[in-house]
Amino acid sequence: MKLNIKHTFTNELPADSVLDNYTRQVKEACYSFVNPIQTKAPKLIHVSEDMASNLGISQKDYTSDLFLKVFSGNEILPNAKPYAMCYGGHQFGHWAGQLGDGRAINLLEVEHQNKQWTIQLKGAGKTPYSRTADGLAVLRSSIREYLCSEAMYHLGVPTTRALSLALTGDEVLRDMLYDGNSAYEKGAIVSRVAPSFLRFGNYEIFAARQDHKTLKTLVDFTIKHHFPNLGKPSKTTYISFFAEVAKRTLNMIIHWQRVGFVHGVMNTDNMSVLGLTIDYGPYGWLEGFDYGWTPNTTDSQHKRYRYGNQPNIGLWNLYQLANALYPLIEEAEPLEAILEQYKTDFETTSLAMMKSKLGLYDYDEKDALLIQELENCLLLTETDMTIFFRNLSSFKKGNASKGLQIVKDAFYVPTEVSDSIAQQWKDWFERYGFRLDKETMSDADRQLKMNAVNPKYVLRNYMAQLAIDDANKGDFKLIDELFQLLKHPYEEQPKSEKWFAKRPDWARHKVGCSMLSCSS
Ligand code: AMP
Ligand code: MG
Repeated sequence: MKLNIKHTFTNELPADSVLDNYTRQVKEACYSFVNPIQTKAPKLIHVSEDMASNLGISQKDYTSDLFLKVFSGNEILPNAKPYAMCYGGHQFGHWAGQLGDGRAINLLEVEHQNKQWTIQLKGAGKTPYSRTADGLAVLRSSIREYLCSEAMYHLGVPTTRALSLALTGDEVLRDMLYDGNSAYEKGAIVSRVAPSFLRFGNYEIFAARQDHKTLKTLVDFTIKHHFPNLGKPSKTTYISFFAEVAKRTLNMIIHWQRVGFVHGVMNTDNMSVLGLTIDYGPYGWLEGFDYGWTPNTTDSQHKRYRYGNQPNIGLWNLYQLANALYPLIEEAEPLEAILEQYKTDFETTSLAMMKSKLGLYDYDEKDALLIQELENCLLLTETDMTIFFRNLSSFKKGNASKGLQIVKDAFYVPTEVSDSIAQQWKDWFERYGFRLDKETMSDADRQLKMNAVNPKYVLRNYMAQLAIDDANKGDFKLIDELFQLLKHPYEEQPKSEKWFAKRPDWARHKVGCSMLSCSS
């Protein structure tokens, strides 16, 4: 395995001078050197070939013993210097102080085909940022991150990626529902990959400590390596940097809304400065369309991170980043203007995204209203988001009376579709049909375009749970089956039609399917 290893982050940014691995506050440093722990009986479960080839890792490499050792943290390549990053964050609306990579260790920085990648191990043991926790990860949450991050990539959603999933052979104690019932679970490690894992919290921590020198060093580093087209460091460049982060954050969230992904824990330490979906924890996929839904039971009281609130939270998080960057800019107006712009851009991009889901391309001043009316209809009775939009593409101009028939599979309880609900749907389909008559595109072309934005296959919560249940019994076949399926989420895959189905009834209230906590 010949990797083109780099040390940009550690060469250019200040390190913690303490080398011992114990919990502490780390000041005036962006990271601490730390090695992963040895695991008892590492076993590779899955490798993303696609990601491996991006890194210059061949099939021969990833089937070798060395690969398993390196990506389970048991061997450190001669030229590698693993480290954990220091960051802080606002959790559920409150400043939480120093958090940091408590169970993520940056293993390698690799350059391949002119692209920079950082590879992290998640669950490879304690770091100076582990606080009171163990630095480990369990199999269920590792499967969820592994499958979902790769699925998101193939859906076209900006995201961190995954390279490998391995069992550690160690047992990990978890109180899954935070209800006093702790149990041992299988330990696992995901190696995940991104151009950078820098988060809003990486900047916030230095601003909170009024360490403006390290703040500037880190911002300059970020711009130089990840936003080089913005130019040399200056106040103007810092402002453009913030504008670019705001733009990418909004873009990412609009994609989440399009596919029905709910992140679950949009704390500022879980917001990538590159606008990538990061830290797959108690995330979930909308089944019934519902703006108020969150999969995260830890957030069930206030539902701060519910589906419909994600765009607002993106903005709230950007306010925190603006505050963190302010000491370098010392002018509020340009930052405020960018935050205002986010709101306007949200309106336009959200409308454009929804229009694309409906197959509307020409301008019509009443489109926002038509979409609003559709959302009202979707809430009348539990309606599966994925099935509804996918089936909507079969609608034919001049055939509004068939509308309800086309989408009927999306209703969870068909008997709930009373005469009055059916009438509201029929009225909506009439308006939709009338609106489509104004579009120049043919039915067939519209269907093709709609099917490219409305996925047929997503990682429904119960699907991940089935793979987890099997894996806990030592059977990893379903992990591979779902992995392969989700590589082509927009294509018809007749042999996999069973995954284009509503959530089964047993999963409605099952832990792991509709209820997840931050325990992972
Ligand atoms: P999260 O809610 O997963 O984004 O985690 C918030 C903070 O807690 C981050 O600093 C994590 O690194 C840390 N953390 C979460 N789980 C663990 C764990 N098992 N061991 C050590 N640190 C953890
Ligand atoms: Mg996190």
